[in-house]
Amino acid sequence: MTRLIDGCGRRIDHLRLSVTSACNLRCLYCRPSGEDGRVVGPAPLTDGQRVECVRFLHGAFGLRQVRLTGGEPLLHRTLVPLVAAIRNAAPSLDIALTTNAVRLAPTAARLRAAGLDRLNISLDSLDPNRYHRLTGGSLSSVLKGIDGALEAGFPPPKVNMVVLRGLNDDEVVPMAEWGIRREIEIRYLEAMPIGPAATVNRQRFVAADEVRKALAARFEMTPLLRGWGSTAMRFRIQGDAGDGCIGFIAPISRPFCAQCRRIRVTADGRLYPCLLDPRSADLAPIWQHGRFCARTAHQIVTEAVAEKSPSGGGTQSTVMVRLGG
Ligand code: SAM
Repeated sequence: MTRLIDGCGRRIDHLRLSVTSACNLRCLYCRPSGEDGRVVGPAPLTDGQRVECVRFLHGAFGLRQVRLTGGEPLLHRTLVPLVAAIRNAAPSLDIALTTNAVRLAPTAARLRAAGLDRLNISLDSLDPNRYHRLTGGSLSSVLKGIDGALEAGFPPPKVNMVVLRGLNDDEVVPMAEWGIRREIEIRYLEAMPIGPAATVNRQRFVAADEVRKALAARFEMTPLLRGWGSTAMRFRIQGDAGDGCIGFIAPISRPFCAQCRRIRVTADGRLYPCLLDPRSADLAPIWQHGRFCARTAHQIVTEAVAEKSPSGGGTQSTVMVRLGG
């Protein structure tokens, strides 16, 4: 086993694996209504091919985490068997899922039994009308999904909130209090100017420092060490409601490119070394006459990773649901 090291000396051991580019929500900051992220053109990877990729990256390069994402990964009909197959192929791998949780409640127990370790859930407002305006979805189904995950034995999920000026920035404190009550860590995300939502996200942008100040007025905040492979700046918070943890993901105001250990594979089999760089490599040549070719895989992956951008900084016109957030 060799380590996968990029041109800047960063070790790459995290994979974001998108299993579908379809989504059941229309989040304002991701894809405005009418924008369909569905793959047009090349056929999506099969689950078998996805498992082969993960097995290869784990065996050849010591991949440590795969995060299944999308689009909305719970729309992928064979998600549960896919998780089981990945677990079987790489028993020591950390397997995580990022989801909007709308469809989580009925599936949580089967995902846990299949070997899924952890969940990140997107939740941008605790007000049902506002949640619907921001995402087009129903808050109650998300809350049921969170309850279902806890009942299924998952550790408390991390909850991602994209903070947008004038739309939900007045909820950063209530969200932290809700997180404390439920022992859930809230992650405040800066909106990235990606794809068709780029303009809205620039206009509505709220920097992590501003959110931190709003929270510091209500909580005592103590910085925590950054977790392994984590891109979040984490704090312990203490206030009238009790104590808990929060994190900030600030790719715009405090880029974490120097700590980036990720690559992404889209649902249609393109490898993106950097979220903010439009360059990608096609994985299709890895399958020759239907069989996985480790030598070609090695070459495609190492060449793409060698070119991983040192600092993002580019313009990403591809919609987030296609990239795999
Ligand atoms: N559908 C799943 C979900 O909602 O969690 C997974 C895909 S979604 C693209 C992954 C994460 O990216 C979500 O937490 C979402 O809030 C975040 N996201 C999407 N577009 C973003 C943007 N432009 N800036 C910051 N975060 C974004």
